[in-house]
Amino acid sequence: MKVSIAQECPGCGRYHRYQESGPGALVCPHCGEVAGTPAAGWSLAEGCPLCACRHLYRRKDFNQLLGLGIMVAGGALAIAVSYWFLLLFSLADLGLYRLVPEVAVCHRCGAEMRSLPGVSELPVFDHHTADIYEIPEG
Ligand SMILES: [Zn+2]
Ligand SMILES: [Zn+2]
Repeated sequence: MKVSIAQECPGCGRYHRYQESGPGALVCPHCGEVAGTPAAGWSLAEGCPLCACRHLYRRKDFNQLLGLGIMVAGGALAIAVSYWFLLLFSLADLGLYRLVPEVAVCHRCGAEMRSLPGVSELPVFDHHTADIYEIPEG
């Protein structure tokens, strides 16, 4: 699997997923802003490849809207047809949740690192650490 780094560009605010293809700067294709220059052979133990912040956390690489959509669909069917649908859909949601991989996220710049070893050793999201960096809720 190829390592990818995704970030909302600080220059133009657009979300972009960079494929790491070797040493060199990651440049936003929309506005030309340099997201960062990961060091050759960097690993999660060294912290964020873009801003060098050492506070990384892990979370499920899961589109939360999708999960919510499944539950809403289940709820609607439960009301319209049978309450068994609610059970069925919550099980499906749980199953999906277990299947999705985890992604490493930087507390400071919000960069998301995928397909890297060591993600499971990172702490889960911590609100105290997030407060330090004052990440705006998006
Ligand atoms: Zn940009
Ligand atoms: Zn960072």
